[in-house]
Formats: sequence, structure tokens, C-alpha cells
Amino acid sequence: MQIPSENIRERTREGAGHPEQEATLAPSRQRKIIHIDMDAFFASVEQRDNPELRGKPVAVGYPQARGVVAAASYEARKFGVYSALPSVTAKRKCPELIFVPPRFDVYKSVSREIHEIFALHTKMIEPLSLDEAYLDATENMQGIASATRIAEDIRLKIREQTGLTASAGISYNKFLAKLASDHRKPDGLFVITPAMGSAFAEALPIKKFHGVGPATANKMRSLGIETGLDLKAQTLPFLLHHFGRAGRYYYWNSRGIDERQVSPDRARKSIGTETTFAQDIRDRESANRELKPLIEKLWRHCENIGTRGKTLTLKVKYADFQQVTRSRTSNALLSSQEILEDLCSELLNTIFPSAKEVRLLGVSLSSLGSEGSSEDDQNMRPSSHRQFSLFQAIGKACIDGG
Ligand SMILES: [Mg+2]
Repeated sequence: MQIPSENIRERTREGAGHPEQEATLAPSRQRKIIHIDMDAFFASVEQRDNPELRGKPVAVGYPQARGVVAAASYEARKFGVYSALPSVTAKRKCPELIFVPPRFDVYKSVSREIHEIFALHTKMIEPLSLDEAYLDATENMQGIASATRIAEDIRLKIREQTGLTASAGISYNKFLAKLASDHRKPDGLFVITPAMGSAFAEALPIKKFHGVGPATANKMRSLGIETGLDLKAQTLPFLLHHFGRAGRYYYWNSRGIDERQVSPDRARKSIGTETTFAQDIRDRESANRELKPLIEKLWRHCENIGTRGKTLTLKVKYADFQQVTRSRTSNALLSSQEILEDLCSELLNTIFPSAKEVRLLGVSLSSLGSEGSSEDDQNMRPSSHRQFSLFQAIGKACIDGG
């Protein structure tokens, strides 16, 4: 499945993750990076395990009013059903759509199997979600010179051992390897060579650049930037001025350059997403409206990587760039999207009414842990809403400054 994670930031102990790395012009050794991405992962697992679902439009998720599609089979995608679509809309687009409840334990077990296959080749494995990982194959166990051969070998083993297909992208950096795996999906393989990298980046629509979400894309469009080539035409000071530190990343990416390393076993400390508004907002209602898709995206990411958090943090950046965060910590892992929404709503009460306009809102989870299978069931029960009242919520506020 496609993980809609363009705005999801993962902070690690090493501090890597967000497009803020210092790229240099110093020629570094040519790396061989492979990005492996399972095809329509959750839906494919369901079709594998239940022959009656094969060849049919399947959505993993719940059909309830507030439900969203977690993953869609390729048959469902033909109807315009994709992950993150509200279930009700999905059913309208495709009346034949079959909803299947997610089985995260099974997905995690398949995820372990594919991880073991990766580990036959390299120790440099950086999982992005249950079904997606970067591999640095520059040095590999078998001493194979061709990363393409390694990727084909991995795809074959995955098919043999799990009965599922994966797509592979191969390139000399993470940014291009990820784009490459998307290029021949499903069940495909694509290589972006150093000779192709620059032209490939130039031809990309800006929304394909790492870290560019809808708000940044709109801002870029308003500046006349539509493609990688348009990005490349901007000076570094211009990009830094308009996009902060991410500007440096865009500057190098548009040249096909990305020096981020593959970080094996990186320990996530927090996951979060944020959005900068095209126009600053002042009232609580607008803030609530803007937060809703952020919370949805955060929760979806939690489900995709099988992670929950105990601490929810709301980040607010004012028009004058002063930044404030507000947090709530629970004794237990926060187990549903509704709970996150309730907590966010409560945190907003500490911000509004506000004398200053707000330019950015973000939500993140920390004190991360794995959800238990019992929590999967709880998520869908309306009563889980009440779990909220059991919290020993601890308020914490700090001012980071601009
Ligand atoms: Mg996938």
C-alpha cells in the first residue's frame, strides 16, 4: 500500500529524519540504496488468506461512519478507493466494495518474515513501516556487486515465502530509491542511475518531493514552483527564506542529491505531523478544523507502523514565529483516533482565545509503544471513547521560543 506519509516526521536518537541534513558537494562514495515496498500490503494479505476476496475490490478497515480505508486492493483502486479515504465515500465510489477488519498481528508477522529476508543480504535495514524499508546494499553479505540482482533476489524470496509481491526501487540515495519503487508498481523494479538522477528529479511534480505536503505544495505553487526543475531554478537563500531549513533539502533534492544515511534499527522517539497555513488563523473553530486531518494522518501512520503513544503534544507556531507546545500524558497508550481528537480539543482550550494569529499547527505522539491485539478491538468500540475519562492526564506546557 501507499503510505501517505509526506508530512510525517520521525525523530530518531540520531536526530535524522526530517529534511534538514547538511548536504555537501564533496563527492562521497557511490552508494547502492534499495527501497522495498510491498504491493497493497494489508489488502494483499487478506486476499492471500481468503480466496473468496481474490480479484475483488477489498478495503481493509471498518465501514462505520467515522471509519477510513486503511488499505485498498488494486481492484478497489480502479474505482478510486485508496487508503485514508472515508469508508462512506469509498462505499459510494464502489458499491461492491468488501470491507475486511484489519489483522495487525498477521501483518506484523509477515513484516518480520520480509525483514528476515532483507537481513540475508545486509544489516543496513531501515524500516519505514510494516511493509516498507530502505536497504543499503553497498556492502552486502554475498558481496554481490549488482544491487538490482539483490533486489530481484529479495522480491523472489518474498514471493516464494509469503505469496505476496513487492516492488523495488534502486538508486544511489534514499530519495530516488523511494521514487523508483513507485515507478513500476505493482510487482515491479526500477533503477535510477546516477546519470538519470538529476533529470528524474527535474521532471517531478513538487508534491513528490520528500517533506512537501499539501500546504507546502500550495505555497510553492504560489511562488511559481511546480516541478523539480522550477525548484532547481531557485537559489538556496530564496528556498531557506520561504521554507526554513527544509529549503536546503529541496535545494539538493532538486539536483538528485540526498545524503541521508540508511539508519538501521533507529529508535523512534516521536512521530508527528504539522501543517503551515496559507493564511494565518485566529479562532478555535478554524484550528479544530485544521487539526482534524492532521490527527487522522497521525493515527493512520500509527496503524501502519503498529505503534501507539502515551503523550500527545500540540505544537503552535504564531505569526511572529514564537512557538508553544502543550502536552497531555496518559498512563496507557492512547488507543483510538477519537481519544486523540478529544485530547487535542482539550489542548486547544489552553491556546484559544488567542491574541496572536497562528501560522502552524502540529500534533505528535511520544512515549511510544506497540499496541496489543486487544486494543485493536477496542479501537472500534464506541465505549473506547470513555477510556478517556480514566486518564490521569498531566498537563505540561513549555515555551520553546521562535
Ligand atoms: Mg506498500
